[in-house]
Formats: sequence, C-alpha cells, structure tokens
Amino acid sequence: MTNKNYSLQRRKVLAKRRKFSYTALTMSLKYPKDLLALIGYLKKLPGVGSRTAERFAFEFLKWEKRDLGALGAMLTEILDKVPPCQECGCLTQNGLCHFCQEGRDTATLCILSSARDAYAIEETRTYRGLYHIVEHLLSPLDGRHANQLRIDKIEKRIAKHQIKEVIIAFDSTLEGDTTALYLKNELTKLSLQVSRLGVGLPMGSSLEYIDGGTLARALTGRQTL
Ligand SMILES: [Zn+2]
Repeated sequence: MTNKNYSLQRRKVLAKRRKFSYTALTMSLKYPKDLLALIGYLKKLPGVGSRTAERFAFEFLKWEKRDLGALGAMLTEILDKVPPCQECGCLTQNGLCHFCQEGRDTATLCILSSARDAYAIEETRTYRGLYHIVEHLLSPLDGRHANQLRIDKIEKRIAKHQIKEVIIAFDSTLEGDTTALYLKNELTKLSLQVSRLGVGLPMGSSLEYIDGGTLARALTGRQTL
C-alpha cells in the first residue's frame, strides 16, 4: 500500500471510530440514571471499560430477580464471610487461615501485598513457609505511608516463629521496589536474611499475571537484599 493510500485508509478508520464513539456517548447519555450508576460501578473492575460495563449492565437486566438478589447479598456479605486471617492477613472462613494451621516451615516468612499472591506462590509447589500480607505498598503520593505497613506486626511474627529468612515478593513496580527497600532496611536490623524474588520477573509486572514456571524460578533464584 502506498503512503497516500495508507493515510487515506487511516483517516477513514479514525473517522469511523469518532462516529462510533460519538454514537456511544449519545446513547449512554440517554440511559436511565440508575443504569448509568450501575455501569459506573462495573467500570471500577480491572480491565472493564465503558463498552464492556454497558454490556454487563444490560446482561444483568436479563437475569432472574432471584439471582440478582443472591449476587447482591453475596457482595454485601463477602467482606465479613471471607475476612483476613488475624495472624497473616491471608483469606480465611473462620479464625486462622489454612496456611497458619498447616504444618509449615516456620523458619521462612514470605511478605506479599495481596492475599491472592499467596495462592499463586502455593501453585508453584516450591515454598512451604509462612506468609504475611501487608495492606498497602508504600505510595506517599497516594497517602500510603510507612506506618500503614504495620511493621510491628511483622516483627512480632519474626520473634514468635524465630524466622531466619524473609522473602519479599512484591510486584516489580515503583511502589513494590520502594516498599521492599524500606522493609529491607528495617528487617536487616533484626539480623536475619532478607531476600527478594529475582530472576525473570519483568519490570512493572504484577505477580498475579506471571505464569507458575516463571514464578517458581523467581522464587528459587531469589536474591539477598
Ligand atoms: Zn494465616
């Protein structure tokens, strides 16, 4: 295709897209207020844009009232039904989670930023130690400071289980790196080994999207900080 033809083609595509988005906008402006509110909530989900949120919302309108009620009740109660384990912060149904109840290797503690990551690490079958979930990664611009990491809780667990090695397994992002550095400075004072997932984790990557093989390699190839 010549340059001239290409740019003509490109202009046509852009014009078509503009027309499409204009149509979508005028359509959505006519939606009833409560439907727009539902779409607004659905758009908060990761990976869900306006069009997908609209599709989901219209799908809900086709559901039986009984199923909508069950979903609504489940969403209302989910935080109470699956609370964080009081010991490590992983998810549980009552009292301690099964990671804290199982006979684990208590000399190692893996620090994560999401309970979901514990399941990803379990799937690698290369780790048998304890877990600890921090509520937030450090991000001063978003108002998440060091005192929210509850480092006192981590130190208490290290003392209780006489932990010898802490593995920091955060996402490979700016927040993950900043928090890992802060924890390393605090925890090496306790004269234990602090390591971080290494080999093969791409910059900016999130643990939940990394395949089991890469995660297992990163775990065995962890680097002492
Ligand atoms: Zn637990």
